[in-house]
Amino acid sequence: MRVLLDAAKKGSYAVGAYNVNNMEQIQAIMAAARETGSPVIIQASRGALKYSNFTYLKYLMLAAAEENPDIPIAMHLDHGNSIETVKEAVELGFTSVMIDGSLKEDSKTPTTFQENLDVTRRVIDYARPRGVTVEAELGTLGGIEDGVGSGKIHLTDPDQAVEFVEKTQIDALAVAIGTSHGAYKFKEEPKLALDLVKEINRRIPDTALVMHGSSSVPKELVDIVNKYGGNMQNAKGVPMSAIQSVIPFGVRKVNIDTDGRIAITGAIRKVFVETPEKFDPRDYMKPARDALGKLVAQKMRDLGTAGHAGEIAQKSLADMQAFYRAQGLL
Ligand SMILES: [Zn+2]
Repeated sequence: MRVLLDAAKKGSYAVGAYNVNNMEQIQAIMAAARETGSPVIIQASRGALKYSNFTYLKYLMLAAAEENPDIPIAMHLDHGNSIETVKEAVELGFTSVMIDGSLKEDSKTPTTFQENLDVTRRVIDYARPRGVTVEAELGTLGGIEDGVGSGKIHLTDPDQAVEFVEKTQIDALAVAIGTSHGAYKFKEEPKLALDLVKEINRRIPDTALVMHGSSSVPKELVDIVNKYGGNMQNAKGVPMSAIQSVIPFGVRKVNIDTDGRIAITGAIRKVFVETPEKFDPRDYMKPARDALGKLVAQKMRDLGTAGHAGEIAQKSLADMQAFYRAQGLL
């Protein structure tokens, strides 16, 4: 993932990180990457690994890589809660991990700065000699998704960000700048803390910043869900224009999960309501896959990722070990 983030910095764009749980999601995201010529981060949460029984997800990701040799792909663990989870993911073949030390292992209780620092350093000590990219988090987002989140917002403190990056030498830092996990983030459209992003980026310009909770919860997709019998009321997200406004200030990875879930659910509901006689799963999984692919392709264009796949020299974990050694980070 470090390779993708460095390329994004050079090209002044952001790379979407899309969550997956099953084959159709992975196929949809890869189709979108192919169509738009985009590098891509595919990420799986602990919930996804559990749902797919680990091994299934591993081989789906390997299939994505084998089928798309021209697309640079990072396989990333989303919200790792402990060193044990990180080890599990790396052993499975993930090339990048997030350790969310902003929360305790229960993924709910906020930690102290020191506790976060300690667990992140342990992860760096384990991951870096293996060439694996590390993302950490400072500050806490609002909202809860996949059981992750304290539900409270603590914006990232720039002084702490400087100290944290100096002491851990992480590749990427997830920052709390006013976004929130899930589909029911806000009552009103949110205001991102633009000055805060600028300040953090000014102080740690070499660290890629990551935005979690960055789904836009598009009204047209929510409307489809509700039109065909769903009940998503007052769902609101972060407008793409707000996300685009922070990309010039070091935001290189943008996590998107909720929007894909809504696209899939709407497409399936539509088939069920319009053609209740259908019972072949392919009759609704294919439209769901198409809807997700369309959504992701648009995100890739909006984030500026489109067209950059060919510029990136793909690197193996062994290449990355050499990279870190050359940087004096190993
Ligand atoms: Zn997150």
